[in-house]
Amino acid sequence: MKTRRIFLQKASLSAMALAVPTFNPLSAMTDIMNTHSKDPKTLRVAIMGLGSYGTRVAEAIQKCTRTKLVGVISGTPSKVEDWKVKYNIPAKNCYNYENFDAIKDNPDIDAVYVITPNALHKDQVIRVAKAGKHAISEKPMAVNAADGQAMVDACNAAGVQLLIGYRMHFEPNTLEVIRMRKAGEFGDIRFFQGLCGFVIGDPNQWRLNPELSGGGAMMDIGIYAINGSRYMIGEEPTWVTAQETKTNPEKFKEGIDETITFQLGFPSGVIASCLSTYNMNNLDRFYLNGSKGWVEMHPSTGYGPIKGRTDKGPLDEPIVTHQTVQMDEMAAIIFDGKKPEVPVNGEEGVKDMKIIDAIFKAVKTGEKVQLNLS
Ligand code: NAD
Repeated sequence: MKTRRIFLQKASLSAMALAVPTFNPLSAMTDIMNTHSKDPKTLRVAIMGLGSYGTRVAEAIQKCTRTKLVGVISGTPSKVEDWKVKYNIPAKNCYNYENFDAIKDNPDIDAVYVITPNALHKDQVIRVAKAGKHAISEKPMAVNAADGQAMVDACNAAGVQLLIGYRMHFEPNTLEVIRMRKAGEFGDIRFFQGLCGFVIGDPNQWRLNPELSGGGAMMDIGIYAINGSRYMIGEEPTWVTAQETKTNPEKFKEGIDETITFQLGFPSGVIASCLSTYNMNNLDRFYLNGSKGWVEMHPSTGYGPIKGRTDKGPLDEPIVTHQTVQMDEMAAIIFDGKKPEVPVNGEEGVKDMKIIDAIFKAVKTGEKVQLNLS
């Protein structure tokens, strides 16, 4: 209850907040005018990539209070026709992968949400930035840290925001655990365990093609354990060790990791021990242990409901549609300069990419790889 109140209070406070984004004076002026007005400004989004997750996001946006799906970018004309009818999208807001740079002349679209295969995010986000639109990129933001940084740089140069689709950063039970940890309710944090995986099906899908995915389970699902270790522990790791096992080299070819166990070391001495796999089902568990208590979340990062308990009792925060809350919170971040409890900006994405780069290096060399996330 306590957190529900805080969550709602925060949501309404954010609408009143008068924070000024520093990156773009022109849009900052518009945003200030907007936050003065009674109705918070609506984020008008075009989705790029009308696949399975794009569809989930589109459905979730229908329940948003300040985000609207207004456009699409797709290579499949039949999908565009379906979405036009289903979501009442005007023809002038429909683009394909060749012509979407023309979105720069469309005043009815504020942001593009890139929900395509991982390796395409970089060029697509850079083109969105050059078109002067805010970019939201799905995780992983890119296939390595250098590409992620290039995306951050392009968005900064264009004066637009770059946000990463880290939906867990807005999930009420996750936020309650972070609140408890910050309040010292678990004492000094000593250990985190993150287990993330599922058995992947069709061997011909893009997720198993390194040119489109940039890697296997780690890029897709292991990233939740990486990102989760950081927000659950509340520190940035300084080193990583990692080990890979592959039981099916035919399905999981060179460049596609099947199962990786990895360990992250944090400045205070906390250790995270994690597993990322495409070869085990129902693997979605976080466990955090401190000198005064513990929390266990299972499921911890799936679409929900997120469930868990602490040594003090069950986690019972409201069940929400993650992507609905995420998109409305992103509207507040973009237009009101709201600072989320856990960042979702491009820099946050680059940190995870640096850790993934280091994990792959540790697998290859067998060495402990130092990290510099500052
Ligand atoms: P998907 O295969 O269902 O959809 C991908 C879409 O990209 C399709 O519409 C496809 O037509 C399009 N596409 C454009 N160019 C393509 C190309 N060259 N090859 C293949 N497809 C191409 O995949 P998805 O599950 O929707 O995943 C898309 C992105 O969303 C990935 O980056 C993934 O990691 C991310 N994702 C995030 C979450 C989350 O919970 N945040 C969940 C699922 C997927």
